[in-house]
Amino acid sequence: MPSYAFFDTKSYDRPFFERYGKKSGIEFRFFETRLTQDTVGLANGFDGVCAFVNDVINAEVLESLYCGGVRTVALRCAGYNNVDLHTAFGKIHVVHVPAYSPNAVAEHAMAMLLTSIRRIHKAYIRTKDFNFSLDGLTGFELHGKTVGVIGTGRIGRAFIEICRGFGMKIIAYDKFPTPEGGIDYVSLDTLFAESDVISLHCPLTEETYHTVCAETIEKMKTGVVIVNTSRGALIDAEALLDAIKDRKIGAACLDVYEEESDIFFEDYSGHILEDDTLARLISMPNVLVTSHQAFLTEEALDTIAKTTVENILELQTNGWCKNELCYRCGKTEVCSAARTGKCF
Ligand code: NAD
Repeated sequence: MPSYAFFDTKSYDRPFFERYGKKSGIEFRFFETRLTQDTVGLANGFDGVCAFVNDVINAEVLESLYCGGVRTVALRCAGYNNVDLHTAFGKIHVVHVPAYSPNAVAEHAMAMLLTSIRRIHKAYIRTKDFNFSLDGLTGFELHGKTVGVIGTGRIGRAFIEICRGFGMKIIAYDKFPTPEGGIDYVSLDTLFAESDVISLHCPLTEETYHTVCAETIEKMKTGVVIVNTSRGALIDAEALLDAIKDRKIGAACLDVYEEESDIFFEDYSGHILEDDTLARLISMPNVLVTSHQAFLTEEALDTIAKTTVENILELQTNGWCKNELCYRCGKTEVCSAARTGKCF
């Protein structure tokens, strides 16, 4: 029976993994702590670890995992920017869940956008306090506005479909444009210049790091709304804050934050928030922050657990897995990344 050390366990994901673990014969040992250099010893003797977005899976941790006998890192998420794939190559298999529910994230992006521009977050608090005044709650309509979508993969395309339903004009940028879906691709500069709303749906890479920064914000329309449900470091948070203070950016909807790893997913109410930039952003009336919640639906949690278990079983049976992340694995016949030219 394969045994997996499950890091960063939360009350909402444990029941799904318990159910699928039982069905498949995989033993999950649940640890609440995140995987870091300090906690990696907990994984000694396990066949694999099951990790999430804020677990530290750098070279040091991977070497320790390898020495402890771990041969698989099963990510229960899509993004893998926290994994040093170069170090893992040839030693530890890394699998992920590429698509659990693009709609969960796309719908959350739209929920944040609507909440922000129609001031629902303000109205909710007011009416709870029997304050029925409308002062300061004037919003704007999405119909006829231009949305610029950066990254037209699964989530980006789901978001585009939602925006179409709102009668928005859609323009997009992707490093690998797809002919599917009749998407109007433009250059990044055009996207920055023409968009009333910009929504980020590309992965975090060296290339996309700080896609939104002082220089690119300069190219945007005054009053633009930025939505980020992808990865925090796509935005230079300091530059965003400056642009909000300058009234250049009209609103920001952030489900992810550059320095989220020590903050998000935890309850810090009653504590003093050390991160001044985040505290200042949260204090702004036109900034909406959710703590990496976009994926959190029943449907997505079920698919995440099911796919993770399938990945582990597929690796065990075949020695490879279609959802494996690799650094030049050479298995081009089974690797969709290589077939589509998206291999590293
Ligand atoms: P995907 O792989 O289907 O799509 C990503 C798209 O980005 C692809 O079309 C790719 O070609 C494009 N891309 C790659 N490099 C680019 C670049 N330099 N510039 C522009 N586009 C580029 O991924 P997805 O399932 O749509 O997920 C998108 C991102 O959403 C993930 O990388 C992850 O970081 C994030 N995500 C967040 C949550 C959440 O809960 N907030 C949940 C799941 C995924």
